[in-house]
Amino acid sequence: MAKIAWIGLGNMGGPMTANLVGAGHEVVGYDLDEGAKAAAEAHGVRIAASTADAVADADAVFTSLPKGAHVRQVFEGDGGVWANAPKTALLMDCSTVDVETSRYCHEHSAELGFRFVDAPVSGGISGAAAGTLTFMLGGADADVAEARGYVEPMAGNIFAVGGPTMGIAAKLANNMMLFISLLAASEGSQLAASMGLDAKTFWDIARVSSGDSWAMRTWYPVPGIVDSSAANHDFDATFSTLLAQKDVSLALAAGDGAGLHLPAAHLALDQFEQLIEEGYGGKDCSLIVKYASADGTVAGFEPDPAPATAE
Ligand code: NAD
Repeated sequence: MAKIAWIGLGNMGGPMTANLVGAGHEVVGYDLDEGAKAAAEAHGVRIAASTADAVADADAVFTSLPKGAHVRQVFEGDGGVWANAPKTALLMDCSTVDVETSRYCHEHSAELGFRFVDAPVSGGISGAAAGTLTFMLGGADADVAEARGYVEPMAGNIFAVGGPTMGIAAKLANNMMLFISLLAASEGSQLAASMGLDAKTFWDIARVSSGDSWAMRTWYPVPGIVDSSAANHDFDATFSTLLAQKDVSLALAAGDGAGLHLPAAHLALDQFEQLIEEGYGGKDCSLIVKYASADGTVAGFEPDPAPATAE
């Protein structure tokens, strides 16, 4: 069994490390947040005093951090991964980051004699807990093959996507499609209701018809239809609007850079930004359904009388 360092023990990293511990690995973790550290310690992660401490002597290093800036910060500097991990350690980043950050991590790792694999995931917090995440691995063939062994206890599906940054490329394209199909499910739900359709009857029809999608099956923004929908719980986040805004922005940065025309993704981004402006960045991204309703009200949502103002 291996010694695995894990930096970033949050909503995803926490349950993911539990599955590595369950597979018999020695997992040493670090996070800035005391609550995240305590939760990870409770499921068998040894908590290090710093990133430098966590990665010393590691066979493999995972990072699961909010954004590209955090990833760069954790890799760089005297206290970072590059300065303190053994050159033999395989470095794997599970964060959803911009393509440039991922390319920088690959190139700088190679310059310093490290092996790096971009290893973003899909499947959410429930997939992380169940050990059924989809992993998209990008890097040199031999490194990706080695990464496959490490991610197996956390995965339902593992794809060797291609060379450096191909994992993150797949993740960004997938999530852009997700949020466009969320828009479709949101608008469809309101149109169906406005024409007098029973919500469950319409969902049952769309589920086996051409309107079907993962977003419709999992996040349908009408209460009482799909168990996993945030609409059942006042749109408390299962996937926050801030996270959705980040993912669509990263996809659009890649697409705009290539000169693509992606109006549907721009529309999804506009609506997420509008929600954030209204103070609902922490609410579920499926709350964009309120922009499809005639008067801005939606079933299952009690507007906050004083939502947090956007930063
Ligand atoms: P999170 O915010 O819950 O966890 C990130 C953790 O990183 C936090 O606990 C934070 O304290 C820690 N952190 C930040 N800077 C640090 C530093 N310098 N050193 C040590 N720890 C640091 O986020 P999450 O939901 O676990 O997501 C992690 C990544 O996975 C993100 O990039 C996200 O986009 C991606 N992702 C999330 C989901 C999801 O459903 N939550 C699904 C797929 C992918």
